[in-house]
Amino acid sequence: MIPHLIADARKIVIKFGSNILAGQDGRINPAFLHEFAQGAAGFIQAGKQVVIVSSGAQVAGLSTMEKWSRKKDLHYKQALCAVGQVELMDVWRRAFGAHDLRIGQILLTQDDFGDPLRTLNMRNTLFTLVDEGIVPIINENDTVAVEEIKIGDNDTLAAQSAVLWSADLLILLSDIDGLYNKNPKEYSDAELVNEVRDITQVRGMISMGGTNNFGTGGIATKLDAAQRVVSYGIPMILAHGGKPKVLEALAAGTQRGTAFLT
Ligand code: ADP
Repeated sequence: MIPHLIADARKIVIKFGSNILAGQDGRINPAFLHEFAQGAAGFIQAGKQVVIVSSGAQVAGLSTMEKWSRKKDLHYKQALCAVGQVELMDVWRRAFGAHDLRIGQILLTQDDFGDPLRTLNMRNTLFTLVDEGIVPIINENDTVAVEEIKIGDNDTLAAQSAVLWSADLLILLSDIDGLYNKNPKEYSDAELVNEVRDITQVRGMISMGGTNNFGTGGIATKLDAAQRVVSYGIPMILAHGGKPKVLEALAAGTQRGTAFLT
């Protein structure tokens, strides 16, 4: 099913969780981003359009400003994201630059999705960037997004962006192979759910555990994201982003994942 979803989609939104952007040492892993950019470039050469939603500003910030790692103060966290966002985009720029592709940065807050004029502007900018062959990279604007106005997790941001851009497919890349009947990090006998046709029903059948090191939303926000996009007729794939050549493998059917169908 997953290879079919990818083959049929022209406009694809792909979201990265923080966990897979960081290597074992907790720093951004450029080799991984480079390999992913190669896969995305392959999609673009095949006539597809790609929009990326990338977490990781805080992780990238910590790589640069190690001495701030213990600061709990919100302003330091936001300052860390301001530093890290530049680092993150620098890695993405190099990764796509190796394939002669340019990137464009879009930073959004929850407020932007509630305001019709801003929503229209975002939509127009997204369409223009993509039409010009540029790869937009979206993240939450952590510098202005204090708790009250935070989207809070990039699963929701990715789903909102997919709807805004009228995408054909949303791919969430996390550090697990997909949706399991229980948290695979806690239960070794957890079973992967290959296909979901009814999200409400599946909610009653699985148990959800917590998040990971840098993760914010856990599986709950991924299910919410699926519910949101599916209600707009956009299918979603949840898969492990840390596997070798993930986009190629998903397209070829050699990597498993969960398909949320419309
Ligand atoms: P990301 O940063 O990729 O968004 P999160 O840490 O927020 O990742 O969410 C993914 C985590 O959700 C997994 O690593 C897993 O431990 C946890 N999880 C809890 N319950 C489940 C479940 N039923 N199926 C899959 N993952 C689950």
